Amino acid sequence: MKKHISRKNFIKKTGAAMMLAATGFPNIIIPKRKEKLGVALVGLGNYSTNWLAPGLEMTEHCELRGIVTGTPSKIPVWQERYGIPDRNVYNYENMHEVANNDDIDIIYSVTPPGLHARDSIAGAEAGKHVWCEKPMAVTLEECQAIIDAARKNRVQLTIGYRMQHEPNTQTIIKYGREEAFGPITEVRTAAGYRAQGLPADDWRFSLEMGGGALYDMGVYPINAARYSTGKKAVAVSGIQSVEREEMFRKVDETTVFDIEFDDGTVAKCKTSMGENVNYLEVDCEEGWYYLRPASSYSGVGGEVSDGTVLEPDPGHQQARQMDNDALAIKENRPPIVPGEDGMEDIRIVKAVMESSQRDGARVVL
Ligand code: NDP
Repeated sequence: MKKHISRKNFIKKTGAAMMLAATGFPNIIIPKRKEKLGVALVGLGNYSTNWLAPGLEMTEHCELRGIVTGTPSKIPVWQERYGIPDRNVYNYENMHEVANNDDIDIIYSVTPPGLHARDSIAGAEAGKHVWCEKPMAVTLEECQAIIDAARKNRVQLTIGYRMQHEPNTQTIIKYGREEAFGPITEVRTAAGYRAQGLPADDWRFSLEMGGGALYDMGVYPINAARYSTGKKAVAVSGIQSVEREEMFRKVDETTVFDIEFDDGTVAKCKTSMGENVNYLEVDCEEGWYYLRPASSYSGVGGEVSDGTVLEPDPGHQQARQMDNDALAIKENRPPIVPGEDGMEDIRIVKAVMESSQRDGARVVL
């Protein structure tokens, strides 16, 4: 039996809104001496341990040099595994001291989303470039504070949306920009997995920490809808629901939502922590293309109506993302995914939540 967190009804269209383009890029402090930039991972959980740290062993333009952790027992394990010296080990209380450490050029916030603002701002204030995981933060105010801190300290800020660095995804972004198959008529996109065995106190069940399907996985279809169309989102509508009430007490298990763009195109989106689902399908006036899966760590591939097969790229997504972002710092040019991109997705998350609370009413952005 489905329980709507808010209630029924659904989508409609139109409206007026804004997508923040990456506005004026500040002067960047360019590191002089280094071949490879030094990265400090902040928060040594699953993603840092299994994806980012291994990825940093493959990167050409950056490498793992430091850690920030609140769990002392992890320190010797990471020091031994990655050869991290004592001087490059921090906790959340003393991480501001990284300001005095030339080994570290980049702070990468990989803590729960509710802590991204704290850690990213600390990194920026220490004069370090900031990489921040998705979702960027829990509130728009936090997103803005991160952007402001990066600007003020003249450091780069990028959000860890790895798909925008993935070759097949870049191909379909290009199709959209060039209208290779005519104007886009509809987008359908989803990302979800069946959550099992997470402890009840896991941050993914806490709204304040940025848990629930919409924050955690929903930013994938949101970002995909935005990058595949390249248009401004102007209105949303959606419904959040819970099936396993014993597990999802305070957050959504599934959210189904529509995003309406300024040219009238609608993206039909779904995200879930109850269902394995992963695709991006784009219909155009003169053709179509899809990626399935569209946001997995590997195997992202699909087909195009002209017969082109988008073969999965064998590369390591996280290594590619971090190399691209490090190169942007070295070459003093804007990153592929600026902070404003992450903030726009949180604007949409919040509007979808509001819509669900209003029985799926159309919410203008
Ligand atoms: P985990 O729960 O596995 O790890 C989070 C880590 O953050 C903890 O291990 C802990 O590290 C630190 N932490 C500090 N304070 C807290 C707190 N109050 N509660 C819980 N953890 C805390 O999460 P993930 O590694 O899966 O996710 C971390 C971030 O990465 C999230 O923003 C998530 O959305 C993002 N992510 C991105 C992915 C992508 O593909 N781009 C994929 C997976 C996650 P320590 O003990 O060292 O302090």
